[in-house]
Amino acid sequence: MNRTLHVIGAGLAGLACAVAGARAGWRVALHEAAPQAGGRCRSFRCDRLDRIIDNGTHLMLGANRHALSFATAIGGHETLEAVAPLFPFLDLASGRQWTLSPGKLTSGVWETASAMGLPWVRTGQTVASRLGGKRSFAALWQPLCEAMLNTQADDASAKLFGCVLRELLMGGKTAMRPFIARGGLSAAFAAPAIATLASYGAQVNFRRRLVVISDTALDFDDGEAIALSRHDRVVLALPPWAVAGLLSAVPHMPTRAIVNAHFRLDQSAALPGGQRFLGLTGGLAQWLFVRDDVASVTVSAADRLLDTTAEDLAQALWRDVAAPLGADPARLPPFRVLKERRATLAHTPKVVESRPGPATKMPFLWLAGDWMASPWPCTIEAAIASGLTAARLAIGRDDLSFA
Ligand SMILES: Cc1cc2nc3c(=O)[nH]c(=O)nc-3n(C[C@H](O)[C@H](O)[C@H](O)COP(=O)(O)OP(=O)(O)OC[C@H]3O[C@@H](n4cnc5c(N)ncnc54)[C@H](O)[C@@H]3O)c2cc1C
Repeated sequence: MNRTLHVIGAGLAGLACAVAGARAGWRVALHEAAPQAGGRCRSFRCDRLDRIIDNGTHLMLGANRHALSFATAIGGHETLEAVAPLFPFLDLASGRQWTLSPGKLTSGVWETASAMGLPWVRTGQTVASRLGGKRSFAALWQPLCEAMLNTQADDASAKLFGCVLRELLMGGKTAMRPFIARGGLSAAFAAPAIATLASYGAQVNFRRRLVVISDTALDFDDGEAIALSRHDRVVLALPPWAVAGLLSAVPHMPTRAIVNAHFRLDQSAALPGGQRFLGLTGGLAQWLFVRDDVASVTVSAADRLLDTTAEDLAQALWRDVAAPLGADPARLPPFRVLKERRATLAHTPKVVESRPGPATKMPFLWLAGDWMASPWPCTIEAAIASGLTAARLAIGRDDLSFA
């Protein structure tokens, strides 16, 4: 039968959906507005640093089972480095250092038990309203909340935070093992996914933005109009603000920014203990990652920084991270600052409750994307799981998987 699965958007949700469809034997056409795949999870060549850098450093964990099995299915797993499940922290204000590990959360039995009970608290509660008074709030729950939910603790959903904690702490020995994209994000996901699609003969169109969808056709901004047959299926693997321009009744979903600064050092970067990253409290910088001679700094829930100039941000972040890197704080190296304004949803209780499912009113059309209802916040894991779910529904095969 002549039938095509059209996937709109080549972020990780769209790539996962397209690969699942192609592996199931469907003809697949993937349409992407940008000149490259990867969406919010991509690498590019930065001329200023003369290096391939990521739009933002992404950390995955062993509990991200869909993400890791997708990377394996497309052959990108070779570029993912599993590092020791140790999360070293440094408080920039006091110099205090500590390390979290799966069996050693520093919070004690009672605090950990109340955090693990968060999935069952009343709807509307925030992380700060449940854990704000606890002894370990500033050194543990607050930084974990901002890192995992990209939302400040006094705004962030306690239920969602509890769900992620349970996945990590009760998910077995490997759930908290961090994975880093050693060769860059695109080498781990976008490039091998596009190569996999090519091997199945799928059609991939870049620089093609969907502008109108109806029961009978897809209209793109390059003038292309694709007629839909009654056997065709369509998945919109787009963020909510893009879907809102195409379908009515998409709720407004507030977002949060992430700021990343990449510094090119004179030599290979090393952190105390040889770990690949360091959590920071008491300053502006929140996480410091090292890869060869590039040090990358992440600030989550960073909307307050969007109007600060790149130069000022680089200066302030370099002052925070120079010492742990053993470098001179007065000598700012070449840098690149990236502000992702809409990095993820704002995971407030209200937004988390309003995350939709994949079905739409049109029987041939499904949604995918990190913002779909999920036990995970907006992450690689949520995006890939949603793409697989949409493919299963669109082509009516609930046995599809990347395992
Ligand atoms: C700086 C930063 C750091 C992050 N850190 C982490 C992390 O450490 N760990 C983690 O797991 N996750 C992290 N995330 C989140 C993760 O990147 C996202 O959850 C995931 O990439 C979302 O994928 P997606 O496919 O749902 O959406 P997107 O990546 O937004 O993909 C949507 C695609 O659709 C395209 N598009 C839009 N409109 C149209 C249209 N009309 N027609 C055709 N194409 C269109 C876009 O160009 C885009 O390529 C981070 C995100 C950012 C920005």
